[in-house]
Amino acid sequence: DEPVTKTTKILLVLPYEHQLSVKRRRTRQDIELHAIASCDQCYMCTDYCPRHAQGHAIQPHKLILLLASGVAVTDAQMAGALLCCECRTCNYACPVHLSPGDIALTIKRDLVKARADNPYHRQTEVDPYRDYRRVPMNRLISRLDLARYDVPAALTPVAAAFDRVTINLKQHIGAPCQPTVAVGDRVTVGDVIGRTPEQALGVPVHASINGVVRQVTAAHIVIEANERG
Ligand code: SF4
Ligand code: SF4
Repeated sequence: DEPVTKTTKILLVLPYEHQLSVKRRRTRQDIELHAIASCDQCYMCTDYCPRHAQGHAIQPHKLILLLASGVAVTDAQMAGALLCCECRTCNYACPVHLSPGDIALTIKRDLVKARADNPYHRQTEVDPYRDYRRVPMNRLISRLDLARYDVPAALTPVAAAFDRVTINLKQHIGAPCQPTVAVGDRVTVGDVIGRTPEQALGVPVHASINGVVRQVTAAHIVIEANERG
């Protein structure tokens, strides 16, 4: 369970049997074994990879070939995965519905955990055919079986009252906020309760209810709607 923050892009609630829900429940081993067994090295995933088109040395089809050859995920030959932006466009491109993007991102996380070096800090040359490899959004939505959810979604005001809220001091990219209130302070909706340090990237956080500050930590601030005791 994670709170909605300023970096939450979208929340999609899909039926249990929807293809994306089913894919989400697969284990890493399932994904890799399926790819090793079925990948025909057609190169479509790499052709469509936007990072590859930018000239970066990532080739998702090659990661599958290396896995099939028994190469360890933290081997230097896998380092191209460090350049994956986790967009999963390659999953869309795969004609046999494999998930090269999921494979690339799990390998990337393993490499990061192992503190593997990224040997590819260099100027890149953009593929001259990049513009012909863009993915049409309506095709993507349709391929993901999301067309029926692609409807206007107006914001609906909901009357809700909360006795107590916990407000995270890091809800954005950049540095966490530092509290600007102390235990016992009274706050009203919209008051600034945390700011990022000077010169640091970030945005302030605000009180979402009228009340009294009950707890202040480096990670969050708790406000109760009514003063008790
Ligand atoms: S597109 Fe699919 S089948 Fe083709 S190389 Fe990539 S993972 Fe393999
Ligand atoms: S998920 Fe990674 S490998 Fe796949 S298309 Fe995106 S950047 Fe390329």
